[in-house]
Parts: sequence; C-alpha cells; structure tokens
Amino acid sequence: MHARRNRFRFTSLILLSALAFPAGADWYQQQRDLMGTRVSVELWHEDAAAAERCADRAFAEIGRIEAVMSTYIGASEISFINNNAAVSPVEISAEMNFVLRESLRFSELTGGAFDITYASVGHAYDYRARRKPDDRTIAHGLAAIDYRHVELADGTVRFRHGAVRIDLGGIAKGYAVDRAAGVLRDCGVADALVSAGGDSRILGDRRGRAWMIGIRNPRDPDGIALRLPLANSAISTSGDYERYFIDAGERVHHIINPSTGRSANRSWSATVTGPDALTTDALSTSIFVLGAADGIALIERLDGIDAIVVDNHGKLHYSSGFEPPANGG
Ligand code: AMP
Ligand code: MG
Repeated sequence: MHARRNRFRFTSLILLSALAFPAGADWYQQQRDLMGTRVSVELWHEDAAAAERCADRAFAEIGRIEAVMSTYIGASEISFINNNAAVSPVEISAEMNFVLRESLRFSELTGGAFDITYASVGHAYDYRARRKPDDRTIAHGLAAIDYRHVELADGTVRFRHGAVRIDLGGIAKGYAVDRAAGVLRDCGVADALVSAGGDSRILGDRRGRAWMIGIRNPRDPDGIALRLPLANSAISTSGDYERYFIDAGERVHHIINPSTGRSANRSWSATVTGPDALTTDALSTSIFVLGAADGIALIERLDGIDAIVVDNHGKLHYSSGFEPPANGG
C-alpha cells in the first residue's frame, strides 16, 4: 500500500466525532460575507497585528475577484461579457481569460458536465423565490448550453449563439480562495486555511498536524458524514442542499445538468480533494453532475485528485485514494 493511500485510510476518516476545530491561541481567525457565502480565513502568525493585516489583504483579494466575476453585479466584467459577447467579440482581462480558459478545459475534461453556459437556462431559476423555468423556457435555453459556443481568441471572448449566458459560480470561489492563499503566502504566512462556502485551500498544515475537514451529511444540516485529514491541498464539496426548494416532491437546486437544463439528480453531494481549489471547485460541480460511477471513473484518471460521492440513495462512493483497505489493514 503506498503512502497516499495510507494517509487516507478509511479508519482515519471516521475517527473524529467532535465538531469544529477550535483555533489555538496563536491562530488568527476572521469571517466575512463575500461572493454570496461565508468566507473564513484562519492563519498562523507570531504577530497579531501582522496576522490581521494579512487577513485583510486576503479578504480584499476575494472582494476584488467578486467585483470582476459576479453575475449579480451589473458592472462586473462577466456581466459586460454577457451583455455584449453575442453581438461582437469582447476584450477581456488576462485574469478573465485565465478563468474562462480553465472553465473550457474542465468542460472538455468532463465531457460537458462542467459548462459555464449552463446559465443560459440557469439564470431562469430563483431558488429563494421558489421559481423554476417552464418546459418551453428550458427547451429554448437548452440550445444555448454548450461550452463550444464560447470562443476565446486573442484576449477576446465571443458567443457563437445569441442566447448564451455564462456564470462562473462553479469555479470562481475556488479561484478566489487560491488567490487569497497566494496573498497570504506573499504576506509571509506559511500555515493557513481559506474557505469560501464549500471550497477550501490549505497552506501548510496546523503546525505539524493535519487539518480535519468535515464533509456534511447531505440530509442532516448538523451531521458530519466524515472528516478528512488534509495538509497543503484543497477540498471542495458540491451539494444539492446549498440552494434549493422542494416543488411537488422534487428537489430543485442550483447544480444544473447541462444536457437537460434541470437540476442534476444523480448525487446528493460530491467532494473532491486536489492540489488547488480552482481544480477541486470545478471538479466537485462536475462529479456531482456525472454521479458516482462516471464521476469516480474520471477522478481515477487524474493524478493527485480524489473524490467521495454521496449518491442519490445516500450511499458513499470513494476513489481509490480514499477507499477502505481491502482486508482491513
Ligand atoms: P458548486 O457549489 O461549486 O458546485 O457550484 C455550484 C454553482 O455552479 C451553481 O450555483 C452555479 O452557479 C454553477 N453551476 C451550476 N451547474 C453548473 C454546471 N453544470 N457547470 C458549471 N457550473 C455550474
Ligand atoms: Mg464547485
């Protein structure tokens, strides 16, 4: 059994039952609401004033990215693209170019399970108002869901179909926590945890110990399905319990199957670990859509990435890096 598998032995996944990990005396912790979610920064620094200064910079970076990438902000770069790219090519920032290129790469990798053009139909859902598009609206918008409609060239983006809308909700939080972690590193921080909703990036460790990251039980808001020991890595969870309403017994939620324009229904949650949060964010959304069988088959082809899927019966499925050892030891 190689080292990586050992580190994630099944027994270690369930050994902790205590909730929360109290920050030690020298850990600085702060939370703010950004990108439509709760963002938390925890870091180790000898000097409390420096810790606060570094955390401020990390939050500022996340706020900056939100102003560029949120479709809820009318003046954001993404809104400008949505309003104009179907008419003519739009010049974009290097940063937008990077995130769009990564998005298209994950679309290719996942056979279109990850697709930022999901928003062509997705924008017609309002989970708070319990509103979903009718069949005609879905049929109309579905023609616009295809990442191949997004043409990136020479620092510009163009939509090849008039009804295309894009949304970076499945990848931008991961990108933002990576960037925030980079800001902390540049600030001289070696050990930190940055999380935004379901996406976390870990720099270093907890002063020689692993962070224990809990994965929620998708059908019990207070229950932890399991805990993973992690250091120097990223983890993302996508779940059908984050934004949803129940309509005539059907759970209508925020992760859209690009081939149907409706809420993906093969999983209750999908968790991915990997080297960076942009990757784990995009892949957790993708694996959620693909479901346990196809999702884990994909993960097995990728180096340094593992996944746990809770299927639509509540059963857990693990990639080989997490799998319980075959004969108990
Ligand atoms: P996450 O919580 O990371 O799984 O992201 C869910 C968010 O991703 C949703 O709120 C949407 O903004 C966006 N999204 C939904 N379905 C898809 C999809 N099939 N591909 C890419 N992004 C999606
Ligand atoms: Mg995601």
